[in-house]
Amino acid sequence: MNSYVQKVINDVKERNPNEPEFIQAVEELLTSISPVIDQHPEYEKADLLHRMTEPERMFTFRVTWTDDNGQVHTNRGWRCQFNGAVGPYKGGLRFQKNVNDSVIKFLGFEQTFKNALTGLPIGGGKGGSDFDPSGRSDAEIMRFCQSYMTALYRYIGPDTDVPAGDMGVGEREVGYLFGQYRRLKANFENGVITGKNPVYGGSLIRPEATGYGAVYYLCEVLKHEKDTIKGKRIGVSGYGNVAWGIMKKAAQLGARVTYISGPDGYIHDEEGVVTEEKLDYILEMRRTDPMHCRSYAEKFNCEFVEGEKFWGVKDVDIYMPAATQNDVDINSARKIAQSGVKYYIEVANMPTTNEALNYLASQTGIIVAPSKAVNAGGVGVSALEMSQNSERLPWTAQDVDDQLKRMMVNIHEVSVTAAKGYGLGYNLIAGANIAGFMKIAEAMMAQGIF
Ligand code: GLU
Repeated sequence: MNSYVQKVINDVKERNPNEPEFIQAVEELLTSISPVIDQHPEYEKADLLHRMTEPERMFTFRVTWTDDNGQVHTNRGWRCQFNGAVGPYKGGLRFQKNVNDSVIKFLGFEQTFKNALTGLPIGGGKGGSDFDPSGRSDAEIMRFCQSYMTALYRYIGPDTDVPAGDMGVGEREVGYLFGQYRRLKANFENGVITGKNPVYGGSLIRPEATGYGAVYYLCEVLKHEKDTIKGKRIGVSGYGNVAWGIMKKAAQLGARVTYISGPDGYIHDEEGVVTEEKLDYILEMRRTDPMHCRSYAEKFNCEFVEGEKFWGVKDVDIYMPAATQNDVDINSARKIAQSGVKYYIEVANMPTTNEALNYLASQTGIIVAPSKAVNAGGVGVSALEMSQNSERLPWTAQDVDDQLKRMMVNIHEVSVTAAKGYGLGYNLIAGANIAGFMKIAEAMMAQGIF
């Protein structure tokens, strides 16, 4: 490995000792762009890699709110404005108990390169809170969101930093957050946040975008392999918004999602989550009980395996981890390799440990696609939402979907070209990392030293 790359990885480890997820994300990216640094000594002179691995700005704030019984609670809020070299900071908010500095920072780092890959002018950011929304009433969620936005509103804006949803933050939360922003600023800058309801400026297809984009990307991979999506069985971990979009698009294209999973176990539905009734139930199940998917098996009379993950089952053609970070470790990866599956398409942000990812990509013959490329359609359509807001002109669903498809085809294409340019063959991980990195690197070099 390039010695400057190695030095930066060591320094990041030393500087961020309690941030394993952040270190993991940095190590993954820097390792794969090492050949680029070999060819660009000017990047070391400009100390580009230390600069790129330190957020431009990151802050925490207190979020105090009152529950329905009059009890006051204090949570911590974060916003990480990681890199603004190619556009206003852009990235979601995650409300989840396990959110901490490391999680926010790794997500902000990943977001920077993912957003660069979309080809649209958006920088990288992320935020969130250690607030646990499960079991909270609508009024509690509203008060929490209002308090959160009261602390944040001065530091964001349509040309500054544009939050959106992530885990625990959907259209309802975005609505409360935007309402409070509008109230505090006494204006209507709806480009300050994406993932809105279309009635006040949200984009059509945004709820589906991450899942649809992932399937469009998958289609490009299949095309490259002279294969087709028709008839394919897909195992998707998770059953959130993203997984739902995959199920829906897969069904439209003649494939089917036959395995899904939740924190409580996994479901095997051989017929696939293909009917409207099943797809609607996925959304309902998520809304009413985000921790359990068992009820799907009861309702549709299929197999439920408690407390297990399905990695390793042989009766699927494609694995798509779409739950959360580090869902697939080396043991799961070994099972995946033994299953004989040909495609491993990451969807969630960093769903695979580095050890597992390296193993799958270099020792198994499985085609591996990285999340920062595969899930970029979500934030890409958020950028299209920003365009619609500044144009004050909503686009049709068809317009958005066409753009999304083009974006995913392009992300696959630039990744393939970038990897080939460094003699790495059809390496989608290195390709995405190199293509995203080059865009950020060029923008930073052009803007002087800071
Ligand atoms: N949270 C999503 C992501 O991980 C979407 C962010 C956005 O739309 O800004 O990319």
